[in-house]
Amino acid sequence: MTTCEVINPATEELLRTVELTDTAGVDDAVARAQSAQRKWARLAPAERAGALRDFAAAVDAHVEELAALEVANSGHPIGSARWEAGHVRDVLQFYAGAPERLSGKQIPVAGGLDVTFNEPLGVVGIITPWNFPMTIAAWGFAPALAAGNAVLVKPAEWTPLTTLRLGELALEAGLPADLLCVLPGAGEVVGERFVTHPDVRKIVFTGSTEVGTRVMAGAAAHVKRVTLELGGKSANIVFDDCDLERAAATAPYGVFDNAGQDCCARSRILVQRNVYDRFMELLEPAVKGVAVGDPNAEDTEMGPLVSKTHWSSVASYVPDDAPVAFRGSAPQGPGFWFPPTVLTPQRGDRSVTEEIFGPVVAVLPFDDEADAVGLANDTAYGLSGSIWTDNLSRALRVSRAVEAGNLSVNSHSSVRYNTPFGGFKASGLGRELGPDAPLSFTETKNVFIAVQTEQEAH
Ligand code: NAD
Repeated sequence: MTTCEVINPATEELLRTVELTDTAGVDDAVARAQSAQRKWARLAPAERAGALRDFAAAVDAHVEELAALEVANSGHPIGSARWEAGHVRDVLQFYAGAPERLSGKQIPVAGGLDVTFNEPLGVVGIITPWNFPMTIAAWGFAPALAAGNAVLVKPAEWTPLTTLRLGELALEAGLPADLLCVLPGAGEVVGERFVTHPDVRKIVFTGSTEVGTRVMAGAAAHVKRVTLELGGKSANIVFDDCDLERAAATAPYGVFDNAGQDCCARSRILVQRNVYDRFMELLEPAVKGVAVGDPNAEDTEMGPLVSKTHWSSVASYVPDDAPVAFRGSAPQGPGFWFPPTVLTPQRGDRSVTEEIFGPVVAVLPFDDEADAVGLANDTAYGLSGSIWTDNLSRALRVSRAVEAGNLSVNSHSSVRYNTPFGGFKASGLGRELGPDAPLSFTETKNVFIAVQTEQEAH
């Protein structure tokens, strides 16, 4: 049996050794999930709803335990980790309403009655990244289960612990055995098998655009459904007519949240040229004020990077001659620490075009609204973004013009369980969350029932 070591990124200590699933283990889990799914789909909608509510209650009762586990495994600050565990509960509660609301349509046709049914797909495979292990798993499994499917989850190699615990809590809460199964393992083994196994009917993949492209190509061979949530290089656009103090004070949290390991990170700050100098004056104390340190401390705002490998990748974007404007602080000693870093590069620089996925932000000046929109859209990605302006017409014009799935005006909000989330362009395909998510785990079946006329009946 192959194993992998799970490391605490804040201390570099070994947390646990986890056994990795092999291909035969995946095949076995798929077969068991198929049989569990058939029974699950036959339950009355209210029974499925009740089971999901019980699961939500079990998560609620273990928020502190799950949060502590995420702090240890991922280095998330305790306040953030608590929010993430609570968010899993909220997502489950929200989709517990879905089994009883998945009504089809009755469509007026000649000669009979036409109705549609939202049939479950069967077994769904969810492949998650290491940056938000719990929440991203829940965005897939909660609506998929609600729609009558069984779910297999493959967490990322570095961060499997909270997902494994969620799988246990599902069982403890009374969810049927084999219905939600967590399979830690290598992407090339477990992830690939989800893609090639004919009985896994849909893949929900969150991760890099590179691997997502490969997953989509593999899924095509089976005409397998995919939802892809991929990378980002989002813009935070600051116009001269906004509340500049607020824009500068909040900008660090729009990019350095989770140490910048956030697909929605606003990693390009675009500032109107006539307020650029003032913005940078205001940004410097805000960046230096970000509390970086022990993720167990209640007032910590930013923890370490997830691993040594990832640290090296982030560091490659800040070579000795990098155009560093200023940096925040980071602890010395063990742990994969990287200080919040503000760069002022040229437009075509690698730090402007590539997703760094760390606490490094590029600030660029722009001339006018057209230049701002052009610059914001000058990227392969299109996930998220912010627009700072007090001009309502401009806020709406620019919101419509920026090619991204999740925009916020005068804030940096991205994710709410009851609103849709996903990317344009290379940032992905399909949407998660929001009221329609369960539908993406169903096939629409149309049934026509002929109704005899009175003459035909006699
Ligand atoms: P990754 O693509 O390296 O890995 C993601 C998952 O895919 C892991 O579980 C990995 O084991 C698995 N995998 C690897 N090779 C595979 C293969 N050949 N077949 C199937 N699965 C395979 O990404 P990562 O480094 O874990 O995460 C960071 C990336 O995720 C960033 O690009 C980030 O923007 C993106 N992300 C996107 C969103 C979103 O919602 N759009 C959210 C979080 C993270």
